[in-house]
Parts: sequence; structure tokens; C-alpha cells
Amino acid sequence: MLYDVILIGGGVVGCATARELARYSLSVALLEKTEDICNGQSKANTAIVHGGYDAAPGSNKAKFNVRGNAMFERIAEELSVPFSRNGSLVVSFEESGIPALLALKQRGEANGVKGLSILGREALLAREPNLNPAAQAALDVPSGGIVCPYELTIAYAENAAQNGVTFFRDAPVTAVSRNADGTFLVSSPAGEFASRAVVNCAGVHSAELNNMVSEEKHSITARRGEYYIVDKAYRDAFHSTIFQLPTAMGKGVLIAPTVDGTILIGPTADDIPDKDDTRTTAEGLARVLSRAKLSWPGLPARAFITTYAGVRAHAETDDFILGEPADAPLFFNALGVESPGLSAAPALGEFLAQSVAERLGTAPNPAFDPIRPGIPKFRDMTDAERAEIIARDPEYAKIVCRCELVTEAEIRASIRRPVGARTVDGIKRRTRAGMGRCQAGFCLPRTLELLAEELAASPLSITKCGGESRYLESNLFSGKAGE
Ligand SMILES: Cc1cc2nc3c(=O)[nH]c(=O)nc-3n(C[C@H](O)[C@H](O)[C@H](O)COP(=O)(O)OP(=O)(O)OC[C@H]3O[C@@H](n4cnc5c(N)ncnc54)[C@H](O)[C@@H]3O)c2cc1C
Repeated sequence: MLYDVILIGGGVVGCATARELARYSLSVALLEKTEDICNGQSKANTAIVHGGYDAAPGSNKAKFNVRGNAMFERIAEELSVPFSRNGSLVVSFEESGIPALLALKQRGEANGVKGLSILGREALLAREPNLNPAAQAALDVPSGGIVCPYELTIAYAENAAQNGVTFFRDAPVTAVSRNADGTFLVSSPAGEFASRAVVNCAGVHSAELNNMVSEEKHSITARRGEYYIVDKAYRDAFHSTIFQLPTAMGKGVLIAPTVDGTILIGPTADDIPDKDDTRTTAEGLARVLSRAKLSWPGLPARAFITTYAGVRAHAETDDFILGEPADAPLFFNALGVESPGLSAAPALGEFLAQSVAERLGTAPNPAFDPIRPGIPKFRDMTDAERAEIIARDPEYAKIVCRCELVTEAEIRASIRRPVGARTVDGIKRRTRAGMGRCQAGFCLPRTLELLAEELAASPLSITKCGGESRYLESNLFSGKAGE
């Protein structure tokens, strides 16, 4: 089949673009390398919807950050994704940092960020009483927000699929070339695909794909960031996202509350040779801890639930590289989309889809439905709502994940949905089962059983995250390995 558009990469940019392309009368397929969507930068970041004060005026980062930020209320409502405008504070712990705060404010205003002001010490400590009392002043960014990055990415994908986009997972693109008629041949072990246009949203691997079709070569540096996650018990410790004003000592780390009540502490920024190396290191985490204490001296190290790392796709231009290279018409790049790429994703999806639709000369899709209903969350319901939903669906009465109060009904729904979960990590990102204090110590066996049942597969074949990450070696009672 000849598709109108093939998207490469199922991160937040690929999935947002897929959903925005579904607004047009186009046949669209998305090819994702790994076993699930949202497995790259989009799953492991700081989950902040940045205000847009940081990027250089006139850059793509600034333009798409500010536009994306303004789109979040509508997107979150249409896709049933939790989003909060909790505000960001860039804190200076030295009086000598105040001119730098003023410069950031000016830069933000040049980028079109609204409502910026400088908070003095007293107002700052009244707003965030757990902040280090050595704080002197802060840039207050009321448009700063937080969103769940995997819920957003998955919701975009589900809505795209609802509107006709086809998703192929376990489909790493190994080559892109031109057929004699000018269409693209996109090769993958999952099959050979033909398309009129290609959109490259391959994150840390986006330069490799660009370099297959264009002489305008690019390179991506993989820059890893490591984090701790603090337990929900501390959900009220901070309300705004706390940035440290960069100093001679480094960029500083963030105290970042999440929409789910945990707090993220990090990240580091270390260039690494292996673009897919998402390991945490003792040394990196030690740096996070010591720098975080500048903002939060009472940081409860015993309340850490877990650690993680994400790898940024840093382009040589230090900016997003977007659109068609001059020598590769109808090949559209979303290359080097590092931070603020999550914040910019709604605007990037809109821009890329409009660019492709214009070049292909297509009409709007009259059947496009922008609404993606979320899976009703037992943990967010009142007692009356719980009684009502259990009466309709008794599987809402069976709690699988005690830490996050996730029910069997939610887990089954996450598997049955379009672009549904196939792995334990897939369930985790769609429902939060396994994300709590015990880190799946309790719910894993039942989650595994539910996956096997819903996918009509042997429990032995169920994996954490695809490939060889199986949990079970053999059936103890059959005595035969692999049965
Ligand atoms: C540590 C860290 C912190 C960050 N914090 C923030 C933040 O707070 N706020 C913010 O706005 N942004 C933040 N970002 C940036 C943001 O996460 C990214 O800009 C955004 O997720 C990029 O999305 P993407 O879809 O372009 O890339 P990705 O999410 O990386 O997706 C790319 C996808 O392409 C797939 N792929 C790769 N090669 C191939 C291939 N050959 N064939 C098929 N598929 C392929 C990958 O498997 C992956 O799923 C952060 C990033 C990191 C790493």
C-alpha cells in the first residue's frame, strides 16, 4: 500500500503530528522502533510545560515553546490528560544573581511570555516555605505548567488511531530511499513501506535518518539526565517548579512537582557515546542530590521511590531543525527536539501536519473527532462515583496496584484500547500500576496474568519492555523450560 505519509518515531512529537495529520484526508502510518510508543525522551524527562523565557529570541525553541504552552488547556481537555499551570520559579540564591534574573525576564518578554515578574525574598519564602531561606529573589513564571508526558503521548496516539492512523510497533526503520516515481521506500524488518511524504521524529536517532536522504548532514549529541523521584507523601512540599539560576557552579537541578503528586529531582546533563544508554549512575545521582539541597535543604532522601534517566537529542545548531531539507522534498524533519520539546509538542504537531498537508495539497477530514476519552481513574473518584462505577463494571472493585489504587478494569481497558499496552511497562505508563512506593512488588504477578489473558498469550512470553525482558523462565509444574 502507498501511504500518503509515514511518520518515523512514536514519541510525543510523532504522536502529536500523527493526530494533527488525521485532521486531513490522508492515509498515515507511524513506525516505531521499540515495542511501544513513548519509549524515548518522551517517557523520561522533567514533565514541565516551560513558560518559554529561556530559549534565544527568534529560535524555533522559543517560538514553538510559547505557542505550545498556550495550547495546553485545550489539548489536555480534548485528550483527557492531567495538566496544571502550577507556575515556575527561577531562584537566585545570591544577590549578585538578580541582574541575571532581570535579563531572563527581558528575554522571556522578547519571546512573548506573559505575566513575568521578579519576586523578592519574603514573597518567595511565603509562597514556598520549604525553599532554602538563603534564596534572594526569583523570576516568577505563572504560565509554567506540568503535564504527564506519557499520558499525553499515549493520548495523542490513541486519538490518532481513533481517527484512522495505523501504528506499527517493533518496526525500526533501517533505510529510507526514493522509488523511481519519486515516492519514498521506507524499510524495516516489519516490512517495506511506500509513501508520498516522510516525517522524521526519531529523537536521538533523527540525524541518522536525515542523513540517509539529504546531503545537509546533521549530528545529534546524546545528553543524559538522571533523576530521583520523591514519594507522594511529600506532595505539598513545593507547589511551583523550582529552577536554580545557572551559576559558575553549573546549571543547577530542579525540584519539579508532577501532576501525580510525586516530585522529580534532577536532571544532570552529561554527553554520552551510546544514544540509547538510559542507565543511572551513582556519581550522577550523587551530583543531583548535592545540588538539589541548595533549593531544598530538608530534602527527604529516605522518601525516594526510584531513579531514572532520559537522553536528550541535542543538535549541533542548539535548536530544533524543522521541515524539508532543500535537497529532500517531502522529507520533513523534527530533528534535535530536546527540551523544551514536550512543551512545544502541540505546536510542533500542528506545524508539521500543516506543512505536510499543504505540500500534498489535501482537504480536511470531515470525520475527524478531536475527543479522546480517558480511562476513568478509580483513584480520582469520590466514594459515590466509585460505588456507581463498580455497579456498572465489577472489575472496578478489584484493586491490582495498591499504591496507586489501580483496578483490574483500568488495566484491561489499557490493553484493549487502540495502540494498547502489550508489556508491563506499557500498563505502567497507561495506568500508573507499578509506579508507586512498592514499585510493582505487589501488583506485578496480577498485571502479568491480565496481560497474558487479554493478549491470549502464554505468561512466559510477557515482557517488561519487549525483547528478552521476560519475567518467567518456565512453568514450575510442567517442568519444561519455555512452557
Ligand atoms: C532528561 C530530559 C529532560 C527533559 N525535560 C523536559 C521538560 O521538562 N520539558 C520539555 O518541554 N521538554 C523536556 N525534555 C525534552 C522532551 O522530552 C523531548 O523534546 C520530547 O520528548 C521529544 O519527543 P520526540 O518525539 O521528538 O522524541 P522521542 O520521545 O525520543 O521519540 C523518538 C522515537 O523515535 C523512535 N525511533 C528512533 N529511531 C527510530 C527508527 N530508526 N525507526 C523507528 N523509530 C525510531 C524511538 O524509539 C522513540 O520512540 C527533556 C528531555 C530529556 C531527555
